[in-house]
Amino acid sequence: MSLKSHCKWRERKKILGIVVLVGTVLALAPGRVPGQVRKTCEGGVTLKLNAGITAQGSLLIVEVAEAKPLAELAGDWDGREIPLWREGEKSGSLHGLIGVDLEKPPGRYAWKVSWKNAAGEAKSCSAFVTVRPGKFPTERLTLEKQFVQPDPEQQKRAEEDQKKMRAILENVTPERFWDGKFQVPLKGVTTGGNFGRRRILNGEARSPHAGVDFPALAGTPVFAAQAGKVALAEELYYSGNTVVIDHGYGIYTLYAHLSQIEVKPGDSVTLATELGKVGATGRVTGPHLHWGLTVERARVNALQIVQREP
Ligand SMILES: [Zn+2]
Repeated sequence: MSLKSHCKWRERKKILGIVVLVGTVLALAPGRVPGQVRKTCEGGVTLKLNAGITAQGSLLIVEVAEAKPLAELAGDWDGREIPLWREGEKSGSLHGLIGVDLEKPPGRYAWKVSWKNAAGEAKSCSAFVTVRPGKFPTERLTLEKQFVQPDPEQQKRAEEDQKKMRAILENVTPERFWDGKFQVPLKGVTTGGNFGRRRILNGEARSPHAGVDFPALAGTPVFAAQAGKVALAEELYYSGNTVVIDHGYGIYTLYAHLSQIEVKPGDSVTLATELGKVGATGRVTGPHLHWGLTVERARVNALQIVQREP
């Protein structure tokens, strides 16, 4: 290597060092979380996302910061409206949650926010999120034939259950019932498993497992994960005795395979409300609690909502 090119290399190393240093300082700047996305838009609007790269089955926390209250503010994620709410009267920012469905095709998606400016002109701004495949294991199960190949009557029942569930989850109550953090519905339990597991039942591929399973003794009390309203409380073919809670803004939690149900549709619940007891009703191999979370119909890992305050 000639002296000249050696010096050039040293020069380059120096520049590289400065770039690395600047990068580190930026990453450590207050209020800046690594991986977070911040998009500055016109009219003093800033879009914030807790992550620019995410995986199937994840929850995204979004925020719109406004210089002054914006008119007709609306959020959209891949063609679905994402509700936005203010924490206080004059907070200067709006909050929202985006659920990335566990079967959402990997790719790049826009979170688009639109509003009207003071002159009444329609404005919009987008931030982008890359969705990567989730790391889900595959499970092979052998179950009684009646549950794998339901007879026509059972099939009809299962389809009716599904239709009913879809109609409930489709509703976006424009009100926030929850206050503070969500909690795991079993006392003293923090971890569960099986979310996203691809199931092969008696050799046939089935829809992925959309909830988190908590092993627990039959009879263990099950509590509401947060305040809300009971949207469903009845026995369903696959999930047995099931309770669905509407927490508002398109957020629902589901509790399945209960031995008994202690609430009824329309009831208001809080963190202290016992919904029922752990059981083994429906399509199960033993007693456990199946806990599901859907955000705007997207099936999300429920444990993600207890890890952060939405
Ligand atoms: Zn389950």
